[in-house]
Amino acid sequence: MSFTLAPLPYAHDALEPHIDTTTMQIHHGKHHQAYVDNLNKAVAGTPNEGKPLADLVAAAGSISPAVRNNGGGHWNHTFFWESLAANAGGAPSGALADAINAAFGSFDAFKEKFAQAGMTRFGSGWAWLIVKDGKLEVSSTPNQDNPLMDIADVKGAPILGADVWEHAYYLKYQNRRADYLAAFWNVVNWNKVAERFAAVK
Ligand code: MN
Repeated sequence: MSFTLAPLPYAHDALEPHIDTTTMQIHHGKHHQAYVDNLNKAVAGTPNEGKPLADLVAAAGSISPAVRNNGGGHWNHTFFWESLAANAGGAPSGALADAINAAFGSFDAFKEKFAQAGMTRFGSGWAWLIVKDGKLEVSSTPNQDNPLMDIADVKGAPILGADVWEHAYYLKYQNRRADYLAAFWNVVNWNKVAERFAAVK
């Protein structure tokens, strides 16, 4: 069974004006599709063919760069689309809000730390909010790696991620990654993040 690209969980224009329609069309339909296609090519006829994506990601250190990069790309982007929603943003509530306050001092302090992780990731990569040993932490990974990979510097269960590769923001924000990361908060689906937090806590 080969990997397939799921449709976006909302319309391409659902995240306007924060993430523009054309970026969503290209990012999902071209970039994410390419990860899926290249992952299928990379595993075809190898012992990794037919393995679940989570197993490939967990074993990133011992699989080929093509499977690591495209498998990570497929996993990360699927996670990213589900992290966002129309008419979203605002602030988390309940147990997640309490955990953010406990770990970072305040929601604003968390947002600053997350944005800093995205800003200081040189080139392409991701900023993450993860659960590690029962506590929340902010981390970042290069390229299409993620915190579930055995080779990650900081390992944990991601509950929120922001793609900081230029293809995620260049059409609208050009070189202004900080503006993109500021706009990102307007489309975060905190209900989904809270659901993930409850599941891994
Ligand atoms: Mn991307």
